[in-house]
Amino acid sequence: MELQLQPLNLPSDQERAFIIAGPCSAETEEQVMTTAKQLAGKGCHLFRAGVWKPRTKPGGFEGHGEPALPWMANVKKETGMLVATEVATPEHVELALKYGIDILWVGARTTANPFAVQALADALKGTDATVLVKNPVNPDLELWIGALQRINGAGIQKLGAVHRGFSSYEKKLYRNEPMWQIPIELKRRLPELPVVCDPSHISGRRDLIAPLCQQAMDLGFDGLLIESHCDPDKAWSDASQQVTPEVLDFIVSRLIFRDTTEHTDTLKDLRKEIDEIDNDLIDLLAKRMKICRNIGEYKKENGMTIVQTRRYSEILDKRGAQGSLLGIDTQCIKNIFEHIHEESVRQQMEIINRQ
Ligand code: PEP
Ligand code: MN
Repeated sequence: MELQLQPLNLPSDQERAFIIAGPCSAETEEQVMTTAKQLAGKGCHLFRAGVWKPRTKPGGFEGHGEPALPWMANVKKETGMLVATEVATPEHVELALKYGIDILWVGARTTANPFAVQALADALKGTDATVLVKNPVNPDLELWIGALQRINGAGIQKLGAVHRGFSSYEKKLYRNEPMWQIPIELKRRLPELPVVCDPSHISGRRDLIAPLCQQAMDLGFDGLLIESHCDPDKAWSDASQQVTPEVLDFIVSRLIFRDTTEHTDTLKDLRKEIDEIDNDLIDLLAKRMKICRNIGEYKKENGMTIVQTRRYSEILDKRGAQGSLLGIDTQCIKNIFEHIHEESVRQQMEIINRQ
C-alpha cells in the first residue's frame, strides 16, 4: 500500500533538516518554560516534551498528563515554537489536539502494538494532525510500515517516521541499537516519507549524541529529535541522555549538512560505472554457480557429501585475507562468501536430490 503524503512544512533550523528539541518529560511549568525559552533563544523552532511517559516499571514519573498541556500551549504562545508530545491512547489524542499541540508522536512501545496503533488511527480520523511514528522497540520494519499505513489510512497525510533504535537484551555501546539498514530500507520503500533520527534514545548517553546526529545527516535523514533539558542531571526521566540547550546549540552548529540533490553529472557517471561493475559481478557469480553445479554432478556420481568443511573454511580465510589486503573489511568479505556458499549448497542439493 502506497502512502498518501503531504509535506510536513515544518520550519527548518538549518538549511535542510528540521530539529525538534526539548526535555524527555514535562516536569514542572517552570522547567518546561525555562528550557523552551533557552531553546528558542538558540533559534529552535520545534519544542518537544513528554506529557504522558511510558515507563518500564511502575513507580517512576509517568508524566502529569492533562495538567501539563497548558504549559505546552504557553510555550507556543510565548516563544512561537511549535510543540510536540507523545500520544499513546485515543484520549491522549483528543486532549493533545484540544490544547493545540502541533505535532503528535507515537512512541516505540505503542508502535509495536497494532491494536493500540489502530485505536490511535481511529481517534485521528477527520483531524488535520501532524504525526510522527517512532520505530517499534523490536527491529521489525514491516510493523513500523504497518503503523504508518494504519495512521495514513485514517486520512493523516502529514506523516513522518522517527528512528530511535531497537532494543536488545544484551546491552552494548548504545541504549538502542541503531541498525541503520532498517531506516535506510524504510527510506528506500517510502522515498517521500520524512524520516527523523532520535540520537538521544539511540545512544542513551549524551556524549554519543553529536556523532549520531552527523551520521544521520550523512545518511540523508530529514531531521533530528533531540532531548534537551535546562538542568539535565536533575531530569526526572532519561537524565543521562539529555543535554542543555547550550550544548544542543553547539552540537547543531558543528553539523555538516550534506547536499542531497541526486543529479550531478559526476555522480551520474560514477553510478554508471558502478552499474557496469554490478553487472559483471552478477555475470561472474552466475559462472561460479555453473561450476558449482558441475561439482554437484560430480559429487552425486561419486556419492560424496555436499559441504566439505575444510574447503569452505579455506575459501573464507583466503578471500577474507585477500579482501583485507585490498582495503575491504575481512568480516564483510566472509559474510559475502557465506551467502554465495549458501546458494551454491542450495543448487548442489537440488542436483543431488534429483531423481
Ligand atoms: C521519548 O521520546 O521520550 C520516548 C519515550 O521515546 P521512545 O518511544 O522512543 O522510547
Ligand atoms: Mn526520553
